[in-house]
Amino acid sequence: MVLEDLYQDVILDHFKHPRHRGKIESPSACYSLLNPLCGDQIEMSLKLDGDSVKQVAFSGHGCAISQAAASMLSECCEGKTKAEALEVLGKYKKMMSGEGSFENEPALGDTIALAGVRNFPARIRCALLACEALEKCLVSDR
Ligand code: ZN
Repeated sequence: MVLEDLYQDVILDHFKHPRHRGKIESPSACYSLLNPLCGDQIEMSLKLDGDSVKQVAFSGHGCAISQAAASMLSECCEGKTKAEALEVLGKYKKMMSGEGSFENEPALGDTIALAGVRNFPARIRCALLACEALEKCLVSDR
């Protein structure tokens, strides 16, 4: 497998046409993370309504994997409860670490296209940046 194989259409589509890119006015939580290895920067923010994740947005810059992951994970988490969103992120991390199967996990949505990143240890950080920032948001909301 060569690196080019990683850039599946669905990844490039999220990179070029990101969903949920932008800012939320007075977010319930926001968190930003850097990946110095690659130069990626991601800021995730979310708006909560009680226990449900009403809106998710991200901003930042970096490689296609980091930005596509932010777009995909925003899509997966918006409209879920906090607990459901954390469960999705947990499954995503497991997929990235190569544990268990993920093929029959509709909750993972388009992120399944990122599964191949596990074969490139230097890029796993890129794929996990948005996930970790979202987790911080979900556990640190006001
Ligand atoms: Zn990167």
